[in-house]
Amino acid sequence: MENYLENTDFKRIQEVLDHSGNIIITTHTNPDGDAIGASLAMFLYLKKRGLNASVIIPDPFPEFLAWLPSAAEIIIFEKDPEICKGLIRESDLIICVDFNNLSRLNELGNEIRQSDTIKILMDHHLYPADEFNYSISFSKISSTSELIYDFISGSGYKDMIDKAIAACLYAGIVTDTGSFSYSCNYVKTYLIIAELFRLGIDGEHIHRLVYDTYSESRLRLLGYAVSSGLNVLPEFHTAYIILTKDDLERFNYQVGDTEGVVNYALSIKDINLAALFMERDDHVKVSFRSKGNFSVDRFAREHFGGGGHRNASGANCDLSVGETVSRFLALLPGFRDKLKHVYND
Ligand code: 5GP
Ligand code: MN
Repeated sequence: MENYLENTDFKRIQEVLDHSGNIIITTHTNPDGDAIGASLAMFLYLKKRGLNASVIIPDPFPEFLAWLPSAAEIIIFEKDPEICKGLIRESDLIICVDFNNLSRLNELGNEIRQSDTIKILMDHHLYPADEFNYSISFSKISSTSELIYDFISGSGYKDMIDKAIAACLYAGIVTDTGSFSYSCNYVKTYLIIAELFRLGIDGEHIHRLVYDTYSESRLRLLGYAVSSGLNVLPEFHTAYIILTKDDLERFNYQVGDTEGVVNYALSIKDINLAALFMERDDHVKVSFRSKGNFSVDRFAREHFGGGGHRNASGANCDLSVGETVSRFLALLPGFRDKLKHVYND
């Protein structure tokens, strides 16, 4: 098993942690299961060690993550900016979880960037930015939650991982691997899962809490997205879905309701690139997914100012939804060959 921690600032980070009084844990906008699961696991672990920690995040998390232990203690910058600013002022360590660049935190990212508190990165995205004092960044891993498990156990505190921490880590790993369908061809992931089960988590129950708690309108939005919103371009092995503001309003959109929708476009045979365009108030949120060696991280970075992982990435575009889709469509002819042969190097 590759001990990637040895090639990171792991040792230094352990020392810094031991000497920190007020610790902040933070994660990215539109937080997903891994972002919240990893943050709360770290929070619970630090508290168990007797350290003072808070979780502050830029914007609300989806309702299907509200059952996570201590989720109610998360402070949301959008709702309580002054409380967050105060915590940043008093902090002596900020742990940045599941993102690679403070720009992913919008205004909260600016506040953190301006603070001279020590910043630590713990993440699994490609191309970590050079704005953290110390980092543990490793992309060949299922999730940041798995990385947090490695961090805790590598620090000699494996015994501190209890059922509550295990539930947070499991939720993060399950959601970031699409229920063990991608980014999980690693033996180690399953050994960790076995450890989490040994701690008494109920995997079936967690799965139901995360995936079987749709509102009726969320399911109808999904139905609409795949029947009316879907466009398929077989010649480019591409499928994409557009959801306008009107569509989202019609189905009473709530945070998290479009999680996973883009995967349905990728589930079509011979479709190797999928995109979801969601019209928001002042921008378009784009999700990209791909199969094989077509890198949507690179595609999102070079053409939409976004990024992520090789097969799952995202971007926020300031153009109109029509212009964003046009830019996407105009790019496809240039990728015709790459989109055809995604399993050949
Ligand atoms: P999703 O499409 O589910 O929002 O995000 C897929 C992946 O891309 C996640 O790992 C997420 O962190 C990353 N991602 C999403 N939006 C952005 C973005 O605007 N910029 C960057 N750099 N990464 C993003
Ligand atoms: Mn993640």
